[in-house]
Amino acid sequence: MIVDFLVIGSGIAGLSFALKAANLGSVCVITKKGEVDTATNLAQGGVAAVFDKDDSYEEHIRDTLEAGAGICDEGVVGMVVRDGPERVRELMKMGVEFMREKNGGLNLGREGGHSRRRVAHSFDLTGKEIERALVENIEKCSGVQILENHMCADLLISSESEGRRKCIGASVIDDQGELKPILAKITVLCTGGAGKVYLYTSNPDIATGDGVAVAYRVGAEVANMEFVQFHPTCLYHHKAKNFLISEAVRGEGGILLNEAKERFMKRYEPEKLELATRDKVARAIDREMKTSGADCVYLDISHKDGNFVRERFPNIYSKCLSLGLDITKEPIPVVPAAHYLCGGVKTDVWGRTTLKNLFALGETSCTGLHGANRLASNSLLEAIVYAERAYQYCKKNLVWKTEENLTPNLQKRTVKERIDEEILINHNWDVIRRTMWNYVGIVRKTSRLLVARERIDDVRKEIDEIIEKYQLTTNMLELRNISLVASLIIDAALQRKESRGLHYIKDFPEKL
Ligand SMILES: Cc1cc2nc3c(=O)[nH]c(=O)nc-3n(C[C@H](O)[C@H](O)[C@H](O)COP(=O)(O)OP(=O)(O)OC[C@H]3O[C@@H](n4cnc5c(N)ncnc54)[C@H](O)[C@@H]3O)c2cc1C
Repeated sequence: MIVDFLVIGSGIAGLSFALKAANLGSVCVITKKGEVDTATNLAQGGVAAVFDKDDSYEEHIRDTLEAGAGICDEGVVGMVVRDGPERVRELMKMGVEFMREKNGGLNLGREGGHSRRRVAHSFDLTGKEIERALVENIEKCSGVQILENHMCADLLISSESEGRRKCIGASVIDDQGELKPILAKITVLCTGGAGKVYLYTSNPDIATGDGVAVAYRVGAEVANMEFVQFHPTCLYHHKAKNFLISEAVRGEGGILLNEAKERFMKRYEPEKLELATRDKVARAIDREMKTSGADCVYLDISHKDGNFVRERFPNIYSKCLSLGLDITKEPIPVVPAAHYLCGGVKTDVWGRTTLKNLFALGETSCTGLHGANRLASNSLLEAIVYAERAYQYCKKNLVWKTEENLTPNLQKRTVKERIDEEILINHNWDVIRRTMWNYVGIVRKTSRLLVARERIDDVRKEIDEIIEKYQLTTNMLELRNISLVASLIIDAALQRKESRGLHYIKDFPEKL
């Protein structure tokens, strides 16, 4: 298959770009599971943008820079913040229903690190609402073809590229398990995050860092991989897998309590309390749990009016109730979990990577917006702003050459043997995720990072042997990707000899 645009991923980044790119040429979106199996679909809080008359671009910029702990790209922050309201309005034009005030204006939520109410939301189901609208628009758009259960295994690089290496599409495992090339003039990585590198995560199963891994393997630059954001409050319940308790619960007055029912944030962040940035809240919780040996802490919003809680957080309320927990009456047990990858494939202000004709958008990318710590609700914003940027770049600069050489340098795999022991794969998933959780988590130490590196290196050798020997499966490829992403995180963490933002290392507790 040959298309003008190959978009890898069907979350907010991929679908937003695909809808626009359809004005320029043929678009194929591949997605490794169903089209709504995305982190986007799980987003609760909303999209940060300046709408309130008392708010200003300057304040949103300042909050973003403050969270980013000195290494955001200020030009990028200004651009994203200023473009934000227009992009949110565009979502509304596509049919996204955000919660409104009686006067018709947007009801804006407050989240940690934001000095103002500025988060446009659809109660606590914002991502689902956005994904719904984007999918509905895509289905009406004849220029976009969506292939579900198609996984990008690797990127294809032109054999005759000079200077900057040129991406010409991807090799893809299709829904029949067959490996085939999809050739494209422009390839856009929109593969989301990498939470599955860690044992506990708020992310969906698709979040295996594939975009970072495939781009790195063909020589694209990646950056800021040490900055993994741990969400402070994931539901702690043996029957709940990856269920997030939105930051907005703290924004609406939820307080954190330890086992002794003490509001411990008073000791860590006496001014901002529960609304300090995520890194600070997650570290405080980690410290409380480690000191007391408790399995969790508690988030309490039961002092607020029950009707308000039920209306504002219908999803969280009903999920907890289904587990026997009435959040209008009792505190919610919570733990931190890996949530967002601030680093990723390095891009310029147009979403272009260091490889020709390869773009990266959304959580897969590292644009310079988040720096050392993402401000809550800035990621959906980044995805829509950069989808537009990449589209504008393509519109202005791309002249399709009919004689464009898209000859892939494909090495035919002749391996026929099927793996008969899935345990070889599953065991290694567990080793990587536990090692990362225990040794490369919220609070780091050089000696533990070195142990982790050794373990992950051993696992990577084993995975390479498995890949060499057996027919490829998606499970195998995901394992190879999380192992590579894990080692990129460890290497970046070892290189940064200071504590900054999300990277806190005991040997170097100060910011340089
Ligand atoms: C529980 C939760 C709540 C959140 N709440 C908020 C919030 O309130 N506000 C906010 O701004 N951010 C929030 N975030 C973060 C935000 O949702 C994500 O950063 C954003 O949705 C990422 O969008 P994306 O398009 O980059 O990736 P995703 O939405 O994750 O989509 C990735 C897509 O890539 C596909 N894919 C991956 N690998 C491959 C491959 N190899 N081949 C083919 N397809 C592939 C996947 O199948 C999927 O379709 C939240 C995240 C989570 C997990």
